[in-house]
Amino acid sequence: MKKGKAAVFMPETRSFDVREYEVSSPAAGNAGLSLRFSGVCGTDVHIYEGKLGPMPFPMILGHEFVGRVEALGEGVTVDGLGTPLAVGDDAIACVAIPCGKCLSCTKGETASCMAFGVTYSKPADEAPHFHGGFAEYQEIPAANLVKIAPGLDVRAAAAFPCGGPTIIRACTYGGGLAKGELVVVQGNGALGLFAVAYAKAQGCRVICVGSAANEKRLSATMELAPDIFVDFRKTGNEELQALVVEEAKKLGRGDGADVVIETSGDPNAFQTGLVLLRTRGRYLVPGQYSNRGDVAIPPHLITFRALSVIGSGQYTMADIAVYLEFLAAHPDLQRIFSGMVATYAVSDINTAIADAAAGCAIKAAFTV
Ligand SMILES: [Zn+2]
Ligand SMILES: [Zn+2]
Repeated sequence: MKKGKAAVFMPETRSFDVREYEVSSPAAGNAGLSLRFSGVCGTDVHIYEGKLGPMPFPMILGHEFVGRVEALGEGVTVDGLGTPLAVGDDAIACVAIPCGKCLSCTKGETASCMAFGVTYSKPADEAPHFHGGFAEYQEIPAANLVKIAPGLDVRAAAAFPCGGPTIIRACTYGGGLAKGELVVVQGNGALGLFAVAYAKAQGCRVICVGSAANEKRLSATMELAPDIFVDFRKTGNEELQALVVEEAKKLGRGDGADVVIETSGDPNAFQTGLVLLRTRGRYLVPGQYSNRGDVAIPPHLITFRALSVIGSGQYTMADIAVYLEFLAAHPDLQRIFSGMVATYAVSDINTAIADAAAGCAIKAAFTV
């Protein structure tokens, strides 16, 4: 029987232990997948740094697993969206298990389940061991898989399997992005980069307010061709607001941006972003993942400018399918996204996490 490596997170020491486990036949309803690419998300870095609270036991983190189906458990014929699934297919594994019973779930808003579980929350030493993404193999309910259509660049799909659907869900909650709208994207991490690409593809005029400190990240941002890039360190809030208002006027969009998407995770960005909106503008906030403290905001702006502030933290299986369809429709972006993936062996977990935390890998991902 085959074996596979896994990077097990030890919560007490906040370190990783690389272990090897035996691969077993998947249980009924499950699928077994070999690793193609498995990304490190900002959330994993937050867990590693202890910012999301303690984990209950040694476990395998990672929720961006993209793998090849090696074996199917009894009764499995389709993925989570009803697409036929067979050995040899590539698929994205979704970590979330919505409860199916709460008000959100019964309304079809499973991305905002009030009691959702995650597939990897099991001790690594408990069979079949491969519960999470930081491993050479994963066993997961087939209901949590979304098949990748043949012909799509799997490496490109692995660039934003979490960030992409997260942005798509936030935009859906915000009523979508319309052609000709002025969109400001705050941040140029994974969420921000995808937001720039997505808004540009919807025909929006896009201003990206991001960091120019890292050359690799700056050139990745520029490859996605935002109409204007603003270095947040070099531009004061008043200057930024004047620029956005001027742009809005040029486009005939009124007194500010139609949509601002906050992806930086910096609470101060919320203060800045709120004032950039036009009257009746929408502020999408999918990026505030860890609690980095409070900021003062002028609530009267929300009233008098009739603003919508829309939070969104998760995504649905269907959002993953939309992400893959979006990629399939944009071969040019597949090429660019593929180039953003930096690969590591599972045993190089410490380097991968350090590079992801330092922002020097656009998307650090494990591969074999
Ligand atoms: Zn994530
Ligand atoms: Zn629910």
